[in-house]
Amino acid sequence: PTDLNSLIDEFVRLSFHGLRAKEKSFNADFKLELDPNLPKVNVVSSDIGRVILNLVNNAFYAVDEKTKAFPKDYKPEVVINSKKSENGIEISVQDNGAGIPDSIKEKIFQPFFTTKPAGSGTGLGLSLSYDIVKAHGGELKLESEEGIGTKFIIQLPLS
Ligand code: ADP
Ligand code: MG
Repeated sequence: PTDLNSLIDEFVRLSFHGLRAKEKSFNADFKLELDPNLPKVNVVSSDIGRVILNLVNNAFYAVDEKTKAFPKDYKPEVVINSKKSENGIEISVQDNGAGIPDSIKEKIFQPFFTTKPAGSGTGLGLSLSYDIVKAHGGELKLESEEGIGTKFIIQLPLS
């Protein structure tokens, strides 16, 4: 059984410091709202870790892009939450980046779909993440509004 809170903590810090190392100007507030009573679940932790890393990388990238577009009055913020839900557990990754236009919401889970410049993204992160979560009997959900931000929710069943 995996303690998802420590996986989240590890991968969020990895992602944050990775982006910082690559790009000195990168900064963002991130908040971890982790349920201390989150039940442990039987998952392939390297796979679920990869999902968390993909989502967090995307979120930090989104707020970094918005920071570059609006260097003055914008505060980049990423919130990662874990909680017990009715039938399982939920992990959400929320950012206040540019959001995802309705016109591409259906495409973002397709392999190789990316809006990032060459070298910045393979377009495989969400497609892989979707398959991993499905293979665990769970769901990967998206809530996003253009100009407001994006929230991805991983729902996993209890073991
Ligand atoms: P990549 O990150 O390599 O582009 P992904 O599969 O992770 O591939 O994401 C696909 C596309 O979905 C991204 O190129 C981007 O257009 C969109 N996307 C994903 N996450 C976010 C986010 N948090 N905010 C805005 N757009 C996003
Ligand atoms: Mg990605």
